[in-house]
Amino acid sequence: MQTSIRQAMDRYFGFLGFKDGQEEVIHSILEGHDTLGVMPTGGGKSLCYQLPGLVLPGLTLVISPLIALMKDQVDALNDQGIAASFINSSLTQTEFYQRLNIARQGKYKLLYVAPERLETDQFTELLGELPLSLIAIDEAHCISQWGHDFRPSYLRIGAWIETLAKRPVVAAFTATATPRVQKDIVKLLGLKEPLVLINSFNRPNLYFSVVKGVERTGFICRYLDEHPDHAGIIYAATRKEVESLFEELTKRGYSVGKYHAGLNNAERNSYQEAFIFDKIQVMIATNAFGLGIDKSNVRFVIHHNMPRHLEAYYQEAGRAGRDGQTADCILLYQAQDILIQKFLIEHSSRSEIRKDMEYAKLQDMIDYCHTSHCLRQYILAYFGEKDNEPCNYCANCLERELRDITIEAQKIFSCIVRMKQAYGSKLIAAVLKGAKQKRIMELGFDRLSTYGIMSNYSTQQIVDLINLLAAEDYLIIDSGRYPVVQLGRRARPVLRSEEKVIVSLPKIPQAAAPESTIFQALRDLRRQIAQEQGLPPYIIFPDTTLQEMAASLPQNREEMLKINGVGQIKYERYGEQFLEIIKLYSVESASTRDLQPDNSTDVPPGPSPRRENKQQPEKKKKEPKIPSHIITWQEHQTGKSLPTIATERNLSLTTVEDHLLKAAKEGYQVNWEQFLSPLEEEQILAAAQVVGYEKLRPIKDSLPDSISYFAIKVALFKNQ
Ligand code: ADP
Ligand code: MG
Ligand code: ZN
Repeated sequence: MQTSIRQAMDRYFGFLGFKDGQEEVIHSILEGHDTLGVMPTGGGKSLCYQLPGLVLPGLTLVISPLIALMKDQVDALNDQGIAASFINSSLTQTEFYQRLNIARQGKYKLLYVAPERLETDQFTELLGELPLSLIAIDEAHCISQWGHDFRPSYLRIGAWIETLAKRPVVAAFTATATPRVQKDIVKLLGLKEPLVLINSFNRPNLYFSVVKGVERTGFICRYLDEHPDHAGIIYAATRKEVESLFEELTKRGYSVGKYHAGLNNAERNSYQEAFIFDKIQVMIATNAFGLGIDKSNVRFVIHHNMPRHLEAYYQEAGRAGRDGQTADCILLYQAQDILIQKFLIEHSSRSEIRKDMEYAKLQDMIDYCHTSHCLRQYILAYFGEKDNEPCNYCANCLERELRDITIEAQKIFSCIVRMKQAYGSKLIAAVLKGAKQKRIMELGFDRLSTYGIMSNYSTQQIVDLINLLAAEDYLIIDSGRYPVVQLGRRARPVLRSEEKVIVSLPKIPQAAAPESTIFQALRDLRRQIAQEQGLPPYIIFPDTTLQEMAASLPQNREEMLKINGVGQIKYERYGEQFLEIIKLYSVESASTRDLQPDNSTDVPPGPSPRRENKQQPEKKKKEPKIPSHIITWQEHQTGKSLPTIATERNLSLTTVEDHLLKAAKEGYQVNWEQFLSPLEEEQILAAAQVVGYEKLRPIKDSLPDSISYFAIKVALFKNQ
């Protein structure tokens, strides 16, 4: 019998619902229509072909550009209990034939292949013999020269499909596609009257910011210090920059990895694995890193340099927060980045027309860095979504701090003029600072009237200001090894005091909320299992699933299956182990909380208590007697029902119920769902609204008998 969509979801994926667009795409495919899904990174495109792949009879062929990505996806599928495999150049000849044979026996539901494969005879022959239901083309923008990851081998997919005796349904997926690229995909793949589903490109959980004119290494170190447990990627423009940043951060004691095309395969793979397996948290990389990287818990992407266009930026930044949790996307802007990008365009082998196109894209990228409006609005408009309101969740919306720096600017400009517009920002800053450098003395700059007029700033702060002024077109920093700073077109009116310099200075994005210890315990278990299985941790369970476990503390199989991301197969494999940790923690946290009664409510919740607990052993000495209602709460946390607790403790059920309410009022977490359905809650509140909240009796009397006093108390407590 065929598996239904619902069955497949529950058994293999354990998702409770669909993400935007998934359902439409899946239905369209199952109804036999060619389909193009344009959904942002993290939008859940994989499910759109994996689920039909499971439901449809026969085989689903997934064409995907990257070998590393394929293995990852197949590992994840196998771990979900799905028969899938891949065929690409990383296999030995023997492995290749083995897999062909298994495929021939119809044992795979999904088979991943690189596009180059389609041209080999063996392969085409094999497919002739197999009932092929669906061809899914992932990262389909690779087919378009207007895209940014053009791969010639993609161009031949369309013709190849035409050669098949029986044409299967064809579905294509991409995250980054302008309307032009979308047209290319439909045309070049030969999609037949496809359903085109375009989801918003918006990624509401990403926090965008552009930070101008800071000393970048220092900024990155501060950021890493503030987010010690967060996984992230730092993109730099060149191999050389990756290397020097890697060296600098390693020297300062950070554990980081690196990735660029200049490393040998073994080195690259080992860093990539360390990152994917959570052994190192931070990866410094060129844009060679990450097409299709599936790690879902990347909490930040910092761009050390401005990329050459927004397609690249949004795709790279989009590797953050694929699990839907908040994540930071920070672009560190320097005026010199423009020069580098222009140089690269100018010296590329592109045609003049292509070059002009690239220049136009670069200008859009530069404008993004300068815009004082909502950054998200800007990005979305670039991708064709024009009618968005300011998002209220980006640095420009939330953190712009307008500052009048006219005086500082005038001091800097006049110093530059007095130094004959012939020196770099470091020396200018040193003169303004009043530094006693030999070079300054030799050049006689210590006799300038501007010498030392900014002595209350650090040299670095002055350099930052110079960079900022360059970013705003007040100054020009030319290219070359020792970039010279000159006045730009906007500087003169400022010097003549005709115009003010008002700039917005974004602050560093807020730190995310501290993580709970139970979450850390679950994460440790996950890492341990991952190590044993040789799988990346997020394949076992993504962060979001662990967070949900930590928040709702499921106590048994049934409750565990209600967690988003826990399917039946996953539960059979790992469920018990996670339940054990949760139970341990539930009991433990109940007793430690008990030692420190919740009367210290004036202390704000924050990350510090964990450390302080250890330093205050005297609290333990007191050993207060555990109050009766807390004992009830603890028992209940271990999964015992209230009647059982009442019997065991020789108390009445009402007393035990009241215990639980009392504990809850003191701030102990209780999962009320088991006592009160949403419908009951609604009924109770409606009744209370009519007869008043003060007395229970009238409320009880106006409700069906099945609703207990306890349910009423709970409802009132929850909604007080
Ligand atoms: P894309 O390929 O579009 O970038 P993925 O297919 O890799 O995105 O999915 C991104 C993340 O979202 C993965 O961690 C995946 O497990 C998760 N996901 C996909 N569909 C759902 C769903 N319906 N509910 C919850 N999580 C989902
Ligand atoms: Mg994908
Ligand atoms: Zn905004």
